Amino acid sequence: MSKLPNIGTSIFTVMSKMAAEYNAINLSQGFPNFTVDERLTNIVARLANENVHQYTPMSGYPLLLLKIVTLVEKSYSRIVQPETELLVTAGATQAIFTTIQALVNNNDEVIVLDPSYDCYEAPILLCNALPVRVDLNDDYTPNWECIEKAFSSKTKMMIINNPHNPTGKIWTESDFKALETLLEKYPEVILLSDEVYEYITFEQRHISVHSRTKLQHRTIVVSSFGKSFHVTGWKVGYLVAPENLMKEVKKVHQFIVFSVNSICQIAICEYLDLVSVSELRMFYQEKRDYFRKLLQNSRFQLMPCEGTYFQVASYASISDEDDVTFCKRLITDYGVAAIPISTFYANGKDLKLVRFCFAKDNKTLEEAAKRLCGV
Ligand code: PMP
Ligand code: GLN
Repeated sequence: MSKLPNIGTSIFTVMSKMAAEYNAINLSQGFPNFTVDERLTNIVARLANENVHQYTPMSGYPLLLLKIVTLVEKSYSRIVQPETELLVTAGATQAIFTTIQALVNNNDEVIVLDPSYDCYEAPILLCNALPVRVDLNDDYTPNWECIEKAFSSKTKMMIINNPHNPTGKIWTESDFKALETLLEKYPEVILLSDEVYEYITFEQRHISVHSRTKLQHRTIVVSSFGKSFHVTGWKVGYLVAPENLMKEVKKVHQFIVFSVNSICQIAICEYLDLVSVSELRMFYQEKRDYFRKLLQNSRFQLMPCEGTYFQVASYASISDEDDVTFCKRLITDYGVAAIPISTFYANGKDLKLVRFCFAKDNKTLEEAAKRLCGV
């Protein structure tokens, strides 16, 4: 019998495959199509001939751990202990899977806010635990009344994702205040904060759990170098957790990957001396603004985009098809692939919204927009 009878193939795989089959411009799965910084590829080329090809220590290449400590301190003024609070992972996906496997028990409940990214549900189910999925408000702010109602004596963990995939929404000070007030009533509940787009926010600054002293002691914060350095295929990320939780997380980590790809860790370690993550915000803000401008005369209605490299758009004035059918037709008839937002909801809520990834070179964005303006 299947352990995951209701889990199919990820929508990102489905849409990317279909995009390739129809030779469509792929704005569905989130990954950049522009070239990686030459300084980074040069480091990798040089390292290939050096003695860097064996296992690193289980929790990460030691010098990289120190560089991450500096990065977190610079970004959020938080001092992380590299030996006890930091773990390099094979991307955020493994960080999330490992955390859930390590900390969630049989029959526990985990609060997940919908629309939600697809890598939370399966690891919860594999623990024989229950994902309790609560819809965000229509403007994608947390609905605190519904969230509080969803808490029970079985609640073990709550997962938040900020900046948010797919909606591009970011959390405000008052969202965090409300979360802190709620969690004070549930001192045993663990928070898992997926912050992979932490350096991609625009008009407002990202508020990280790293800077919330009331939450740090109970939170696992997850980051991804794939997003921050345009290398999603490298699958290198990290998590920060308080020592008592980290002890459990490492027990599982050592038997999932033991240690992460050595050459990529060392390359990122060197690259961190050359690059500033603060450049990312301007880079993607220009992309966002350009893509929105290109679509301004289309029949799509563009939703606000406060962060991430995703633009959500309504096609309600174009078609009343369900969003999966619409996305498939967008590929076959117009040659552009997007992601239907209903797939991020447990209840399949279909608000006639699609997600476009604008982490693409300008030529690709221009051609895609030309096609989308014809819809
Ligand atoms: N969380 C979110 C919200 C994501 O969008 C992604 C992937 N883009 C991940 C986690 C996984 O990141 P990684 O590729 O580092 O595993
Ligand atoms: N996170 C990427 C997205 O949202 C997808 C990564 C994947 O395909 N697993 O598009």
